[in-house]
Amino acid sequence: MAREPLVDGHGRRIGDLRVSVTDRCNFRCQYCMPAEGLPWLERSEVLTFEEIERLVALLSSMGVRDVRLTGGEPLVRRDLPRLVGMLRPLVDDLSVTTNGFLLERDAEALVRAGVTRWNVSVDSLQRDRFFELTRRDALGRVLAGLEHLATFPEAHPIKINAVGLRGFTEDEVLPFAAFAREHPYEVRFIEFMPLDADHAWDLDKVLTGEEIRAAVHEHFPLEAEPREPHSTARTYRFADGRGRIGFINPVSEPFCGDCNRIRLTADGRLRTCLFSLNETDLRAPLRAGASDAELEKTIRDAVWRKELKHRVNDPGFVQPARTMSAIGG
Ligand code: SF4
Repeated sequence: MAREPLVDGHGRRIGDLRVSVTDRCNFRCQYCMPAEGLPWLERSEVLTFEEIERLVALLSSMGVRDVRLTGGEPLVRRDLPRLVGMLRPLVDDLSVTTNGFLLERDAEALVRAGVTRWNVSVDSLQRDRFFELTRRDALGRVLAGLEHLATFPEAHPIKINAVGLRGFTEDEVLPFAAFAREHPYEVRFIEFMPLDADHAWDLDKVLTGEEIRAAVHEHFPLEAEPREPHSTARTYRFADGRGRIGFINPVSEPFCGDCNRIRLTADGRLRTCLFSLNETDLRAPLRAGASDAELEKTIRDAVWRKELKHRVNDPGFVQPARTMSAIGG
């Protein structure tokens, strides 16, 4: 049953849902969580696939037709292909953000189940530096998983997300640019955001997209592409036609104006912005037997209060209590 579109108080129509299927991860990236990990949710606290399916079906009927599965690391939920099979008929586009460590094991099943787009997080192409940042000696396995994924024509486009950290990423810029030119992947640099568990984020640690773009352009001239509506990335093609590269600049060039995204956490909280300080509990009403009409009202009320923009650059910015690994990006 089609319902009225889901619209926020600023007139923005919501079309994109990020679903965190777990808060757990098999990596320990320094810009995300401490070496010892975080206290994980109990299994009973995590939404079941059937609960996710019900919420996605409801949101889909309100026009939210693009769904991205995230984590933590979503592939640590072994039966993820089953969820993909449940959601595929409900949406127009189903994508996954992964650290790539389990791609060799799961790529085929997920592609066959219906995943249409892929984002793989890789922050360094050098083994020792990859280990330094993720606290896992896993670069080889991630690259092998990527290669395996790339053998499925329906898996493309494949995007590589690399976090831009000042004092670290500068040495990765040209290797990543060359990587994008030599492989069927689109590399995108993402500015470091204040969502880390250690609350160590500082503007000085952000290597901006523009700085990285200029460094690439100097060696490999770039041509800008028109920005897609609601897009988080500014993309460029290499002037000589050998691939594309992108920059996601939430800190230096926020893209909140036409934001059409909302998020569902693994424990069933609706977040209307990545940096929300408030959340709406959907799990409790779901488990209390709420009707779709009641859930719809709760969702519409929450979305109507969606933040106009983030306040990362504003004096007095308050970092959300929930970390990136528990939001899902
Ligand atoms: S920071 Fe919030 S409002 Fe801005 S683009 Fe991200 S989710 Fe949308």
